Amino acid sequence: MLLDPFQSRVLFRCALENHFAVLAVNADSPAAVIDCLEAARECDAPIIIETSLWQLMGRSFGHGDAALGMARYLAELTVLAASERYRDVPVIFHTDHIKGPETLALLTGAIRGLSFGDTDLKLRPSTISLDSSELSEEQNIAHIAALCTAARDAEVPVTLEMEAGVDAGVTPIEVADRLLAPVEHAHPGCLHLWAPGVGTQHGFSDKGYPFSPAAVAQHSARASEICGRPIGLALHGSSGLPESALREGVAAGVVKVNWSSESLLIRSRASRDFYAAHPAELEKAHKSWKATAMDHGVQSFVAARYVPRVVERIRVLGGAGQAAVVRTAIGT
Ligand SMILES: [Zn+2]
Repeated sequence: MLLDPFQSRVLFRCALENHFAVLAVNADSPAAVIDCLEAARECDAPIIIETSLWQLMGRSFGHGDAALGMARYLAELTVLAASERYRDVPVIFHTDHIKGPETLALLTGAIRGLSFGDTDLKLRPSTISLDSSELSEEQNIAHIAALCTAARDAEVPVTLEMEAGVDAGVTPIEVADRLLAPVEHAHPGCLHLWAPGVGTQHGFSDKGYPFSPAAVAQHSARASEICGRPIGLALHGSSGLPESALREGVAAGVVKVNWSSESLLIRSRASRDFYAAHPAELEKAHKSWKATAMDHGVQSFVAARYVPRVVERIRVLGGAGQAAVVRTAIGT
């Protein structure tokens, strides 16, 4: 089931109260989306599928047109999440690292809902964030406020993650006051995730700052105080972290763990190994050449390696078995 913005808030609240985090996979292709849903189904966990501008613009989705990419991604995930196989899996579709001049048009369009032809059907992401790395604090606040205004004007809910200084060490606690308070004051009830810097870095850089579970706890407490409701943290740059650090982060208040670099590497290495292991089958005289050459061949090989790793990650974050808790909490 694809969660709406209200149901997504319930999931984050469940995660904070029950001390688990939801794995948020930056899924790069339709096959990666299926693999993530399979992993979540296997261990009865909720999952977040998220997409950045590069997927929306990429060949698998928008092919240069981010709005088309958003529509394709959302349509595909909506159909999959409603299918019999995955309808018991609580799924959030989250926009992650959207930046540049198209940001507001793309996200406000998605918040209002994407329609198809003459139908009344409107598809929307479950939760929204944007990449603030090139924005000043004032611009960050103005962008987030513009998303809240678009939702209010369209009379639809929006559930937001706000970020700050994700790759720049530990974000000083005063930044939470400067960023979250004005948004909460002008648009109460829209913010539900906070992503300050807590020492992690995107990618596999060995120049990372030490991860600080203490900063997680401090920021979660401050954000909750500012907003007047429990606010968990979204953790960016989790790929290089050991399992022990992930567990400590969850215990301190992380409820969403973004996973991209390591996920990409597992999939791309598996593809490399598949083709390297089957050169003879790619000769046209070979009786199995077609099964080897088809996308299904390589994607099945990748899935056999990738799905267990996703399951392992979900288990480390305490998400296994939590889908039942979420279904009860949202009343389905
Ligand atoms: Zn990130």
